Amino acid sequence: MFATFLEMLYQLYSYFSTLLSKYYLGIPLYLFIVFVLFRKAQQPISFYYYNSHKSSTKMDPSLSPDIGSNFSRMLQANKLFAENRLRTSPDYFKKLSASQSPKVLWIGCSDSRASPEILTNSDLGEIFSLRNVANSVNDSDHNSKSIIQYAVNNLLVEEICVVGHTNCGGVLASMRFDDLTGDIRDWIHPIHKLYLENKDYIESFESIEDKSTELSKLNVKRVVATINDFDFVKSAKESGRTLFVNGFIFELETGLLNTL
Ligand SMILES: [Zn+2]
Repeated sequence: MFATFLEMLYQLYSYFSTLLSKYYLGIPLYLFIVFVLFRKAQQPISFYYYNSHKSSTKMDPSLSPDIGSNFSRMLQANKLFAENRLRTSPDYFKKLSASQSPKVLWIGCSDSRASPEILTNSDLGEIFSLRNVANSVNDSDHNSKSIIQYAVNNLLVEEICVVGHTNCGGVLASMRFDDLTGDIRDWIHPIHKLYLENKDYIESFESIEDKSTELSKLNVKRVVATINDFDFVKSAKESGRTLFVNGFIFELETGLLNTL
């Protein structure tokens, strides 16, 4: 068996040797190999690793050793993203860097499963966003308020979308408020208050998933009302310009956004 295999290899070798010498293919092949080796030698020294996504990723040796394999993969993906955009649109980044004029302000949860650009198939420059735990906006929170103010007064967005989602960890935490400590307890407190105000209604649902979804909906409505009450939002609407403030729930189970 092994002898047959060796014989086959030898026959293949003889066949290609004859082919190369007969048609003078040896020289071009030799030049091609030299060219490939020369190109390889010009590339910087790099190493490869095998990540959880089962793809080989080249890492830049100049990277800080503090950068983990997850973000290293993202850096490599980022290079590919930039290259692909330039390939299809050479002016893409030139135009992108000139200015932004998004029409939508997205107020959503920080949850890794609720990325606005991905779930709406939007491009860079289309969505101005504010994301935090449980997509909350409070009158006393300077961060949220300044982002909304800038979007309304300077960017002149036409729509503010407040987007809650099912199975939200922040909303679930507001129903187990006694377990919370520190800053997250302060941040979640308005949603916990909302839960207490509507406890009979929320608790009328059987499963914890349904309870949290209903509280997410109430929380979105609370945030929409809070935003509509801001002076600069009222002024913008009274000036006659287009400014919608709407609430949505992103269903993780279906991938769909539902209007409230
Ligand atoms: Zn969430």
